Amino acid sequence: MVDIVIIGGGPAGYISALKAAKLNKEVVLIEKDQLGGTCLNRGCIPTKSLLHASHKFNELSKSEFFGISINEATVDYTKIDEYKNSCVTKLKIGIEGLLKNAKVRVIKGNGKILSNSEVEVNDEIISASNILIATGSKPRVLNIKGIDKEIVVTSNHLLNEFKEVDKIVIIGGGVIGVEFATIYANLKKDVTIIESCDLILSTLDKEISNNLAMQLRKAGVKIKLKATINEIVDNGIIVNDELIEADKILCAVGRTSNTENLFDNKLIDVNNGSIVVDDNFKTNLENVYAVGDCIKGIQLAHYASACGLYVIENIFKGSSSINLNNVPACVYTNMEIAEVGINEKAAKEKGIDYKVGKFSMLSNAKSVVSNSDRGFIKVISDSNNIVIGASLMCDRASDIVSIFTNAINNKSTIDSLTDTIYPHPSFSESIVEALEDTSKQALHVIYR
Ligand code: FAD
Repeated sequence: MVDIVIIGGGPAGYISALKAAKLNKEVVLIEKDQLGGTCLNRGCIPTKSLLHASHKFNELSKSEFFGISINEATVDYTKIDEYKNSCVTKLKIGIEGLLKNAKVRVIKGNGKILSNSEVEVNDEIISASNILIATGSKPRVLNIKGIDKEIVVTSNHLLNEFKEVDKIVIIGGGVIGVEFATIYANLKKDVTIIESCDLILSTLDKEISNNLAMQLRKAGVKIKLKATINEIVDNGIIVNDELIEADKILCAVGRTSNTENLFDNKLIDVNNGSIVVDDNFKTNLENVYAVGDCIKGIQLAHYASACGLYVIENIFKGSSSINLNNVPACVYTNMEIAEVGINEKAAKEKGIDYKVGKFSMLSNAKSVVSNSDRGFIKVISDSNNIVIGASLMCDRASDIVSIFTNAINNKSTIDSLTDTIYPHPSFSESIVEALEDTSKQALHVIYR
């Protein structure tokens, strides 16, 4: 009997496998497709490669500003695709090496849970003291007329082989939607986002949503808010009774959990397609846990990994100190976006008395040198001057946000963060100005 069988080799599964192996446990990891899961093969890494390549192309058109002239830059889609694949391959080789060195037994095949201590894969039955489900998710398909037409694609299709698309309509103004819009807009393609809410990225700070919409529109992206889709036709999509012609329609409206062929009917509780777990990620079956995209909640790679580590530490060490309540979220548009903790909207909704300090990156030296678009850093603190949230829209936001994640974890005060020296010139130095601005602002008292 092995100590743990993990089903799914994405960021939840393989990170958990490595952690359990580090704790000297015998681990079996089952993956039916590719190690790295959605994140490495169809998600984070391919999109970030395409964002990087398309951003380079877009930057070339602005190089005159820096005194550099280029006759005509061209795009080779086959080479971009090769570059994207090479990033994926390098990282996959890395994961394979780590698992091999850690002596994790990796089995390629579909894992099926037979009981709380048995998993079947390729006609072999593996007995285990614990089972961790980390089977991830797949794109959700909208239930609208014409959705099965050839013109409709998901992120999986677009990332599998990156090809030129002249006119694209993106259904969904969430993270995946705006990242794809950025890729095609950078490549000077005709892009339309269709969003049913009155904002894109509607869960983030409102100023971020509006600023991003402004920047995308400036780049030529058409954004249709509060839109109602009538149907999809062979040459486009009918929205608010108007035809928008397209070569491809990307359906980017969220994801659903992978549970098919994982167990026979009703062995494990599922609600709305997601595996049901308690606060410690336990399913209804004793010693069977589930983490990552296959359960309800935040669908981010680093959160999936963190939850996996939490479960492994709880099982094999009896406790875990990982803080799962403080999850940074990033959007890799040309000007990066990042949030952690509570944003202004959430503070109001939760009835928390708060202060908000803000600094415009127009006065940040590194932003001026880089000729960056208009960005800002916002810090939210509570009535005791403890940092409780940050919303960033600026270059390197995905890196700078870690300063705030740490601060929130450590319950740092505004003063303790401003007592630190930040390098000059740097994008991160502007957090001091945003922090200091909170002391000039009145406390927003939420009357209850
Ligand atoms: P997955 O990564 O989906 O891995 C699950 C694995 O389980 C898969 O490899 C699957 O083949 C395998 N599997 C399923 N069923 C079985 C079975 N029965 N037996 C064996 N194996 C099985 N997140 C970020 O944090 N940052 C980003 O920038 C980001 N960008 C994204 C861009 C896109 C286009 C998409 C789609 C997602 C993005 N995400 C991003 C989300 C991120 O990819 C997921 O949150 C993350 O991959 C979830 O990890 P997971 O391990 O739970 O599942």
